[in-house]
Amino acid sequence: MSTMTASDRGSEGRTASQSDEAVVELSNVEFGYTASPVVEDISLRIDPGEYVAVVGPNGSGKSTLMKLMLGLLRPDEGTATLFGEPSHVFDDGARIGYVAQHASASKEMPITVREVVRMGRFPHVGFGRLSAEDDRIVDDALETVGMTAFANRRVTKLSGGQRQRAFIARALASEADLLVLDEPTVGVDAESVDAFYDLLESLNESGITILLIEHDLSAVTEHADRVVCLNREIYFDGPTEEFVESDALARAFGTAATFLGGN
Ligand code: ADP
Repeated sequence: MSTMTASDRGSEGRTASQSDEAVVELSNVEFGYTASPVVEDISLRIDPGEYVAVVGPNGSGKSTLMKLMLGLLRPDEGTATLFGEPSHVFDDGARIGYVAQHASASKEMPITVREVVRMGRFPHVGFGRLSAEDDRIVDDALETVGMTAFANRRVTKLSGGQRQRAFIARALASEADLLVLDEPTVGVDAESVDAFYDLLESLNESGITILLIEHDLSAVTEHADRVVCLNREIYFDGPTEEFVESDALARAFGTAATFLGGN
């Protein structure tokens, strides 16, 4: 097995069949927790290497859409696939790295950064022990996110930005192809936010697909290549530059929304 790290995972690391396969594909998806749908008529495809942001007002169905994509919810109508398999049966967790809001990270977790990142190797070793090679991959992941110096620190002792980096390193150690981030910079101090988005950008350049749910519209327009603007239905899906020029934002959010004001 190779010791591929995030920094050398380019397109050469992918086989042709992998790169032809959609990462996520939703076709005419509708879903409601009750009788009335909270998302409907959703069709979209995310290809390997894309950097996609999902935006929309509070309650517009962003988290629901993400859960449908990841197979945590099943569509009432339509189909959802993940790496070519129906999302709800997909079980190769190592291919997906999930970074939740900082606020929802457990403050009680009494483990170190290195232990968090080593968890990324568990799907690869089953009940076996981590090998020296696994530990090299862990070290590489720590280095990629700039957390080598904090490897032995407890995650409870980290700043919000550092903690998010540790969770990204865990995804890198698992060699995830898809990184899903749900408002990852909520509660992260302003200086660390820029560095965090720079990190995401370099991971995306190394071939990792990024799906970002974000309320900070300026971050989205600065970093994502493609925007999906949602409010129960898709109001816009296309290149970020076209989103900025379009009236989708005003239609989905109401006229008060601006790119400067975020939410
Ligand atoms: P967003 O992530 O854009 O804020 P959500 O997907 O969380 O939107 O919510 C979309 C709609 O679904 C909202 O009206 C919300 O109240 C409702 N909703 C979300 N989760 C549940 C749930 N578990 N049970 C019932 N209704 C829910």
